[in-house]
Amino acid sequence: MQTSFEELQLSPALTAVVQDLGYTQPTPIQIEAIPALLAGRNIIGQSQTGSGKTAAFALPVLQGIELERCELQALVICPTRELTAQVGREMRKLGRKHRGLQVLELVGGQLSRPQRDSLERGAHIAIGTPGRLLDLLERGFMKPESIKTVVLDEADRMLDMGFDDDVHKIISYLPENRQTALFSATFPRGIEAMSREIQPDAQRITIETSDKDLADIRELKLCYGSDDKILALCWALQSQSAESALVFCNQKTTVREITEELSRGGISVDRFDGDLEQFNRDQVLARFRNHSVRVLIATDVAGRGLDVEGLDLVINYDVPEQAETYVHRIGRTGRAGATGVAISIVRDETDRDLEDIEEFTGQTIAILDHSASKSSTLAELLKQLAEGPKMETILISGGRKDKVRKGDILGALTGDAGGLDGKDIGKIEIQEKLSYVAVSRATISDAVSCLNVGRIKGKRFRATHVGR
Ligand code: ADP
Ligand code: MG
Repeated sequence: MQTSFEELQLSPALTAVVQDLGYTQPTPIQIEAIPALLAGRNIIGQSQTGSGKTAAFALPVLQGIELERCELQALVICPTRELTAQVGREMRKLGRKHRGLQVLELVGGQLSRPQRDSLERGAHIAIGTPGRLLDLLERGFMKPESIKTVVLDEADRMLDMGFDDDVHKIISYLPENRQTALFSATFPRGIEAMSREIQPDAQRITIETSDKDLADIRELKLCYGSDDKILALCWALQSQSAESALVFCNQKTTVREITEELSRGGISVDRFDGDLEQFNRDQVLARFRNHSVRVLIATDVAGRGLDVEGLDLVINYDVPEQAETYVHRIGRTGRAGATGVAISIVRDETDRDLEDIEEFTGQTIAILDHSASKSSTLAELLKQLAEGPKMETILISGGRKDKVRKGDILGALTGDAGGLDGKDIGKIEIQEKLSYVAVSRATISDAVSCLNVGRIKGKRFRATHVGR
């Protein structure tokens, strides 16, 4: 028996949007959570990463928004800035038929003033990280009285990061009769305690992971023995001819070292770790998502929740210390029905940490045969891998606040105005105050100059080519 989105009592507008997005069927967590949330129940929802939890709460939240009342009606608490941005994107995507919908992202590491101003102007949905949300509440900038629903996304991660006090404090500001939804990929004891306190009557929804809905990820290990580890990384990259690869290291210093090494070798690579400033983080992720960077080297900051469409390869340059971390890392690939490959680089076949992981996941990790590339030197391998990225990224100095839409950017680049072909234009990401557009490598300078000369929405914006 298959359930359709219509059967979940979603409005025709939302049903149409999910159809446009190509969501042919709701996922198991969506099938359970959407009707419960629409019925006003408190829920605690658990299902694995990549199973569509965001839409499971975003759709009912959107359905409950009264657009004509320009006040905060829903609050989503997320553990990190990146997740906040991601939930914001999904919320806007699903809410694109809600005319005038205002979704705010309230995170630390950015000036609080513009966020306060936006709150003052009024918004329907706020998404943010605990510290900043609490600060805005305590100082009276955020008015919680009209909030009908609060969602805690990635609650397990929130506990890991020590946010439980902040979360409790935030909750204490919210109306008593609100609806509370808590989502988590795992279910440690702390979550249960938190749920009991903030939503005593919650309905529990657990989606057991059956082999059938397990993300389709081929898990492999590559043993480098007495060879250089960086050589092994190149073997791993070469074995898959992947469009994009995410490489995890346990330490920032390793991230820097191998990013530099690969970059010197001519590989399209960038790094993502906790040392990057917020603006650079956003930029790096946007470039990775739109295929302007082929290999991203990251610490576990990137391991959780990040959803990169079409990511087909994850490499563990270092095996993580915890099995859970491994699961989260490899969960970045093989999402929502696509197939992915995860390769862990180990010295010996009998790596203890990897054996622990196999025990934890119940999956066997097969050995990747790299005998074909073993005779190549590092220099030779780098040369083979040194293929430029498919796309390049342009940063445009206008975003949602300036009423810039995807169609406007597309319009400025194509047709009589820009002269570019639609096929040369890749992903367009509109953020609050800026936008990113990917264009094919050959057209980058034409695209930059046409955007700088032309107008978008009758206004002039600055366009710059962003690279490493
Ligand atoms: P989770 O929060 O459980 O880790 P996400 O909400 O990030 O998962 O969803 C993972 C991916 O699946 C996203 O790219 C999302 O757009 C996509 N997705 C969500 N629901 C569906 C659906 N019903 N059909 C197809 N894809 C979906
Ligand atoms: Mg999620």
